[in-house]
Amino acid sequence: MDNEQNIPSPSPIEIIKDNSNYLRGTINESLADPLTGGMQPNDQVLIKFHGTYQQQDRDLDEERKHQKLEPLYSFLIRVRVPAGVTTAEQWLAMDSLSDEYGDKTLKLTTRQAFQFHGVLKRNLKKTIQEINKSLLDTIAACGDVNRNVMCSANPFESPIHAEVAEDAKKISAHLTPRTNAYHEIWLDGKLVEGGEKEEEPLYGKLYLPRKFKIAIAIPPRNDSDVLSNDLGFIAIVEDGELIGYNITVGGGMAYTFGNTATYPRVADVVGYIPKEKIVEASEAILIFQRDHGNRSERKNARLKYTIDRLGIHFFHAEIKRINGTVLRPNREYHFDSMGDKYGWIQSADGFWHYTVFVEGGKLVDKNGYLAKTALREIAQIHQGTFILTGNQNVVIAQVTKTQKPLIEKILKKFKVINATGISSLRQNSIACAALPYCGLAFAEAERYLPTLIDRIDQVLEANDLFKVPISIRMTGCPNGCGRPFLAEIGLVGRAPGLYNLYLGASFTGERLNKLYMEMVNEDQIIDLLSPIIQHFAQARTKDEHFGDFVIRKGYVKATTAGKYFHA
Ligand code: SF4
Repeated sequence: MDNEQNIPSPSPIEIIKDNSNYLRGTINESLADPLTGGMQPNDQVLIKFHGTYQQQDRDLDEERKHQKLEPLYSFLIRVRVPAGVTTAEQWLAMDSLSDEYGDKTLKLTTRQAFQFHGVLKRNLKKTIQEINKSLLDTIAACGDVNRNVMCSANPFESPIHAEVAEDAKKISAHLTPRTNAYHEIWLDGKLVEGGEKEEEPLYGKLYLPRKFKIAIAIPPRNDSDVLSNDLGFIAIVEDGELIGYNITVGGGMAYTFGNTATYPRVADVVGYIPKEKIVEASEAILIFQRDHGNRSERKNARLKYTIDRLGIHFFHAEIKRINGTVLRPNREYHFDSMGDKYGWIQSADGFWHYTVFVEGGKLVDKNGYLAKTALREIAQIHQGTFILTGNQNVVIAQVTKTQKPLIEKILKKFKVINATGISSLRQNSIACAALPYCGLAFAEAERYLPTLIDRIDQVLEANDLFKVPISIRMTGCPNGCGRPFLAEIGLVGRAPGLYNLYLGASFTGERLNKLYMEMVNEDQIIDLLSPIIQHFAQARTKDEHFGDFVIRKGYVKATTAGKYFHA
């Protein structure tokens, strides 16, 4: 309801934040309540800022209902890993925590983070404490704050990659919330007295209107999917030196079925800054969104809508007013892919780096395929680091010449997929977690996409396209955690077994796809894709990508901007 001045009322979440005393709420009381495995509703909102979500095992819902039990509540915990870099010791700690307190799986997310699923309330605090002991944390991994800052994978590939990864860490540290609530609640830190003032200089007590995502890409690879972020930086290199960044604003994937006022959006490239201004520019743009984002309608609260509503000229003027950030004209850049380079590469300093394909980002020992064990054994001897990639894979980085054969031996012993024997479609696949834990999922994603790819692979093989790179992404709902609207073949769950099929995104993450067919099942997906794939095999031009082909041949219209996604 509007007030007398016709100012829209803040959304209920804004009121929860306002009354939370800087994200404390009654989380401690909820944790101590032995009568339920869940948290109080307001605390369910607040714990997201601390890096955890309440979920329930939806596979067991019916059975539990029958037994007159509450749903089997458990918690997702997301571990913030700026630029995706972890030590071998940290890897071992995450691996062991997933076995001890989680569901024995380790999810590598599309934002270079670790995710545990299935953690029971009684183990939540212990797990977060153990994560902090390993010098990682979960603060701001979720919630209306800046999330994990992504970066082109492998900072050890070149000095430029290293410099850019350092910038990602600087931004992450600068934009981390300052509230002491996290330490009080999870780490038994000293309580801030009731009336005592706490400083949250960047965010204020309401934090941001919605989540805020930042990524950095180093052309020609767009492996961080930079244009899907609220704020992005594209590294500009001249004569072998990093000189600065093009800034991108207003990317975001989510939309709501049936609501055309919501849409995914590819970010606009709005200017250039010299490299030393990256933290200052990040702060200005975050403050712009803090002050101008929509706080009454969460579905329209992301920066992408603020930019479309207020216009780019206002944006430029405001960030200049906030802290003097002035954007210069964009510099030239070129992307050629969004994917990871699998297998071994050697960097100029002589180290080796091996990118392991992890299907759906899910590390689990299952059906005789012991990828989780293999990486644990590698971590036990590895003297370098592990890098989580934005494509849900992992790089075993900084391997010495002496260690290379030892690591290779473990990979071979466990037959860990090195991506050479699989289709390029599978190599370029992403799936969100979806069922059984995600409460928003309408359909399967991570558990099902591998099976669907088996069938599409047969069509590709029959058309001699098995090794032609095509991107495919599946999510259980249109919230877009797996960035499905930037895939050449996008599949988004509508109901159990039914998906919307989207086609026509660019292979480089610079153009969204478009709805091709609604509510299709597996056989229909294969029936729809087969003739298009066959046509692609016969009529594509040299090096033409599938997403460009389906537009050239009129299967779908090109989506030239987010607001035309539904047109
Ligand atoms: Fe859940 Fe939807 Fe995100 Fe998938 S995209 S994890 S179904 S919210």
